[in-house]
Amino acid sequence: MKALKLYGKRDLRFEESEEPVIEKNDEVKIKVRAAGICGSDLSRYAKVGPYIEGMVWGHEFSGQVVAIGSGVSRVKIGDRVAGCPTLYCGKCDRCKKGLLSQCEKLTVIGARHPGAFAEYVKLPE
Ligand SMILES: [Zn+2]
Ligand SMILES: [Zn+2]
Repeated sequence: MKALKLYGKRDLRFEESEEPVIEKNDEVKIKVRAAGICGSDLSRYAKVGPYIEGMVWGHEFSGQVVAIGSGVSRVKIGDRVAGCPTLYCGKCDRCKKGLLSQCEKLTVIGARHPGAFAEYVKLPE
């Protein structure tokens, strides 16, 4: 698939990338239909640079579900969805209290995991 990757400050490349594959039973693969540019994308592009060189960039998006893991129950193939780009552990004290945005291991797609400026992206359900 085609994807936009951030290699360094002001170094974006539109190139071939591996399409995401369902590997875990809670994963959802989404065909990206629209993606927005976040304020954090602007600072990362112009001032800070990537977390990981060449990572597929972008994390604000919506799209359509094209594949699901065997344990997924709340979305089905064909559903139109907006993705929450943050990934939380579900195990730390803050996650157990329901404070998912304060997870001790919080991370985000488009930074340390492949993001949404691509034809496909995957996220946990
Ligand atoms: Zn954002
Ligand atoms: Zn957590």
